[in-house]
This record gives sequence, structure tokens and C-alpha cells, in this order.
Amino acid sequence: MNHSELLAWLRETDDDRLEILWGKADQARREHVGDAVHLRGLIEFSNYCARRCAYCGLHVDNQGVTRYRMSMDEVMVCVRLAHEFGYGTVVLQSGEDYGMTTDWMADLIRRIKSETPLAVTLSLGERSHEDLTAWREAGADRYLLRFETSNPDLYRKIHPDLGGRISDRISILNCLRELGYEVGSGVMIGIPGQTYDDLATDLLCFRDLELDMIGVGPYIPHPDTVLGRQVIDTESDQQPPRDERMVYKMVALTRIMCPWANIPSTTALATLNLVEGRELGLMRGANVVMPNLTPPEYRVFYEIYPSKACIRETAKDCHGCMGRRIESIGRRVGTGRGDSRRMKNTVFAQD
Ligand code: SF4
Repeated sequence: MNHSELLAWLRETDDDRLEILWGKADQARREHVGDAVHLRGLIEFSNYCARRCAYCGLHVDNQGVTRYRMSMDEVMVCVRLAHEFGYGTVVLQSGEDYGMTTDWMADLIRRIKSETPLAVTLSLGERSHEDLTAWREAGADRYLLRFETSNPDLYRKIHPDLGGRISDRISILNCLRELGYEVGSGVMIGIPGQTYDDLATDLLCFRDLELDMIGVGPYIPHPDTVLGRQVIDTESDQQPPRDERMVYKMVALTRIMCPWANIPSTTALATLNLVEGRELGLMRGANVVMPNLTPPEYRVFYEIYPSKACIRETAKDCHGCMGRRIESIGRRVGTGRGDSRRMKNTVFAQD
């Protein structure tokens, strides 16, 4: 699809026409990545962050956050749970936390790789080439870094530089690729000042970057952030809404543009519709979910945006709930690591 075709779908409001889009996305998902839904166990092990992203409640200046950093043993308890539950991957996520050193992280990765068969995904912010190299050498398989918007002016507005170092997530994504990571990125939908045009460009960017994993989710305002205090111009016909339907459109178009990618049905989507948001995401292009393994006593403090879904559930609750939801829509829980199929130029075969 070209830019104007993408734009037309992004602006589509007719429910019958949208059914066609959902159908195309579901078919592309089935043909390229199959019926398996892969579970990635999410461990939010530190909410310290040095940055000031304009949309995120964990930014360094937010004095209202109770900060925590889990010990290596605490993280390993969560990792073992992931293995016990049959997940193929753990996602280690934190703010851009320089209190968590390069060596500590490398030791943790080595420990996970020597004690379990799990794939390790990192989501640790804009770290240096040296850090990314050390963690890849320690055995990390994948890295997630969302660029959030392809509009350069909006990007600069929401991602201030740090200590004279210019924020440039696209060049970090290219560096991750060179280091041999599977590379994941994504955007937010409905950022104040974003346009439909920007979203169409985001989708073309996903394709051009040849991403292995792509997460798209709604912008949810946090009151203690620069952006959260900004009034959104809902009258503008350029500003895309940050509603559920807009997210489904982006999930579906992402699947059509990048048919081999692993695409999560996100917690932010479930936050908009706790009853069936995850399921509808899976039925409109997604093939991954990320059950949360973070202990509830820490999880409540990992507040990038407020009113996050499933904040008080235990890992066991999340595990059972995800399995039931997947089966309720006639899909099955994936086995194995659920590696990227992007480079496998073959039609899907059963796992
Ligand atoms: S989005 Fe990430 S890097 Fe930015 S402030 Fe939040 S935790 Fe820090």
C-alpha cells in the first residue's frame, strides 16, 4: 500500500469497510505467522530513568514516583516462572537506568542463558553502542526501542536530548540490526500534534526498517508529564484520535505492511478495553501477548501511563487469563521461542 492508500484506511469510519480491513489483516496474519500466539513474559525490573520523555510518567523529574530496582535474584525468580509457565521469551524492561550497570546487565543475561533455554529481549532505552555490544555478546537476542513517531519535529519535542547526546532512536535501531539483534520498535497513536499523515509515514517506516517486532498502542496521557498537561485539539481534522478503533486500524495496517513481523496486542490497548481489547487486537493482526511477571508490589510503581490494565494481578493470574483469552478466540498458545519469521522466506508451516 502506498501513502495515500494508507491514509484512506486511517481515515475510514464506515464499519462495513473496516470489516474488510480486519479480514485482510487476519488473513495476512494467518498466512505469514500462523495461529500460534506467542507469550513473552514481561519483567519491569527497574523504574529509575534518566530521561525526560514528554509522555512518560517515569521521567527523571517526576518526584511522585516511588523508585525501585529489583535484585538479580528477584529477577531470576520471575525468569524461572516464565520457564515454568512454558513461555519462550523474557522481556527485561526498565527506564534508562544508569544505576543498572553494563556488567550487572551482562551478568544477568548470561545467567538467564545458562540456566534456561529462554530468548532474552531487552527494552532498556537509548543505551550506548558499547552497552548494546556487551549485552549482545552476553547472549541477548532481541531489543525493543519504540521511536513513537516518524515526524521529526514531534519526535524532538517529546524526546529531549540527554547530557548533550542527541536522541536518535532510528540510528540506534540500525545499530541494533548490525549487532545481530532482532529489532523491535513502534509508535504511539493520538499524540497531541500528530497527524494522520504522520501515522501513514510511520507505517512506511516500519516496512523500510524491516522490523522484526512492532508495537503500536494508544497515547494515554499521564497528568505528571509535559504532554499530559497539554490540551489536545480535538477539533482539528488532522489530529488522529487516541481511541480503540484507531489502534485496531494501525495494528491491521502494520500486519498488512509487515506480514512477517511479531506484533503484540498491547497492555495499553487492554487499558482502553479491558473486556476484549486484547482479543480484538489478536483478531485484527496481532500474534503476541506479554503477560506481566513483575511482582505486584513493584508493578504498581511502573506507571508510564495511569490506570494501566492488570496492575494488581499476580504472574499466575496473568498467565491463566491470557491462556483462556487466546483459546476463546480459537487460537493456540505458541510453543518455542517465537523467533522472527522475517528472514524465513517461506510460507508458514505449523510449529
Ligand atoms: S519512555 Fe522510557 S526513557 Fe522515556 S522517560 Fe519513560 S522510562 Fe524513561
